[in-house]
This record gives sequence, C-alpha cells and structure tokens, in this order.
Amino acid sequence: MKLLGMHEALFYDKTYRGEAHCLLCPVRCHIANGRTGACGVRKNINGTLYTENYGSISAMALDPIEKKPLFHFYPGFSILSISSYGCNFKCRFCQNWELSQGMPDTEERSAYDVIDEAKRCRGNIGIAYTYNEPLIWYEFVMDTAKAARENGLVNVLVTNGYIEEQPHMELLPYIDAMNIDLKGGGEFYRKICGGDVNSVRKTIERSYGRTHIEVTNLIIPGLNDGMQDIEDMAKWLASVGKDIPLHLSKYYPQYKMARPETPADTMLMARETAGKYLDYVYIGNVYGTDNNTYCPECNNLLVERKRRIRVAGIENGRCTNCGHKINIIL
Ligand code: SF4
Repeated sequence: MKLLGMHEALFYDKTYRGEAHCLLCPVRCHIANGRTGACGVRKNINGTLYTENYGSISAMALDPIEKKPLFHFYPGFSILSISSYGCNFKCRFCQNWELSQGMPDTEERSAYDVIDEAKRCRGNIGIAYTYNEPLIWYEFVMDTAKAARENGLVNVLVTNGYIEEQPHMELLPYIDAMNIDLKGGGEFYRKICGGDVNSVRKTIERSYGRTHIEVTNLIIPGLNDGMQDIEDMAKWLASVGKDIPLHLSKYYPQYKMARPETPADTMLMARETAGKYLDYVYIGNVYGTDNNTYCPECNNLLVERKRRIRVAGIENGRCTNCGHKINIIL
C-alpha cells in the first residue's frame, strides 16, 4: 500500500500511441501523455496512469448517518465522513461543486491516519466516502476500506454510481452501505450530467443484495419534477427491490443553476407518487415533514425521527406488531 502522493491507477490499458485508456468508469477516457481524464484526477505520465488525489483529504467531519442520507443503516449513529476532489459528472446543479469541480485545499493523510481518527471519534461506526465522488478516488477508498474492515469499522459510499462492473464488483465486498444517486431518466443524464442512466441502474442492480443500498433523487423544477418521471423511476426501482429506501431531495439554486427551489407541494406529491410502488419514501430539505419509518404492512411506527432518533417498533429484524421483515440494519 502506497501511503501518500501520486499512486498508479488501477483499471487502465496502455495504448500503442502512449495513451492511457481508463476503464474505471463508463466515460472510458483515452488520455494523452501529460493530460488528465474527464474527472480531473487521473493523469497519464509517460504512458502510466496515476491518481493525483490518493490520500488528499479536502474535508473530514463526524456526521449523523441520516445526513448521508441513510435512514435504514444504524439509525441515530454517527460516521466519520471524508472527501477528496473531482467528479466524473459535470452537473450544473451540483450541491458540492467546490469539491467536485474546484481545487480545494487538501491535507495528505494515509489510510491509517483516517482509521486512527475514526477510532478516536466517540459513537462513530465507521467511514463514509462522500461530498465529492468517491468512485474516482477508488484506490484510496479501497485501501482505507480494507483497513477499516480490519479495525471493525463499516464503510459507506455516497456516490453517483457511475462505475464499470469489474472495479465495482472488486470494491463491493468491503462496502457495508451505499447511497446511490438516481438523478433522472435517460435524457436527464445525457443533457444535464454528461452520462448515461443505464450504467447507474446497473450499479444499483449489482449492489442490491450484496450490500445495503438507499437511493437519492434530487427533484429540480422543470427538469425531472414531472409526476410521470417520478412514477417511472419508482416503478423501475421497485422492480429491483421495493424495500429500497428512496430519498426525494429538494433542490436549491447552486453552482451554475439558478432555477427557483423546488416547491414543498411538489415534494409531497412526489412522495405520494413514489409511495405507490416503494415501501419507504422520505423527503429531504422540507421543513416539518414526517420522515418516520412505518411498517409497510401494518403502519406500526418503526423508527421515530424527531430531534432524536428512536427505534420504536423493530425486534430481531421484524415489526413488533405484525412480524413483517424490515429492511433496517440496527
Ligand atoms: S475515472 Fe476519470 S479518467 Fe477514468 S474513465 Fe472515468 S472520467 Fe475518465
């Protein structure tokens, strides 16, 4: 394990013209000597592909797990959240654009520094790789995740899900939970993110059953806020697993997008629409809404989320009222 600085990348081919063909994500960049890929962090130096952000930490904070958001994974606990910089999408509405599209100040840390910090934090269950896109930080995430496992800590990815199958499958055994963005349909990904929805859907399909997953959809007025869009997304997600928690998140103007924020009525309607297909739908960033978890069979209160988080109606993984199996890790 290399600790700091430039680190040779995994998953690439060398071409006869001296290019590096990166195979980490579906962008599949052909990178000329001296250039970096579309994510801004993988650089070809004389035919060898390096990651420039290995061990470069832009932010580190102890967050409630609910902030990731993960509502069905150790509710009420905290997790040490770390990030680097760069992203393989170019979303105009990015809520963390200073880290994903900018060049923030960073500190060089080893995987073991992160583990030491994680073990020092009281009430911490592990490490969340978050804020910017962690999948393009692959090598550091993999090394840290392995060390975290050896130290009894869990690993959480908060991600856009834009990764090729082989690197995804090699990382999954070390990941305990993921929150994956499902931003919209095919046209939304093509026009707004510069990606394709099918690759993200495949990541969700491969992850389901192999690790705990929850999905987030940011609802943006005029772009993906039609109830038909919401229904299509919820139907598709239910075809993978109707017990996958869906977080509908309210958009605020950010970065290069100035559209007005999403109305609360739209959020409530979207929750009702998605709730016809999925067992657990939550809405984020809307003041005063009920985001408790109820049993999808008998409506018993399972987890109460007010100022404090209280597990109220789950025993041995089942609803205490009707015995229905509940997809929540405690
Ligand atoms: S990880 Fe970066 S360099 Fe590699 S294919 Fe994706 S965008 Fe290109």
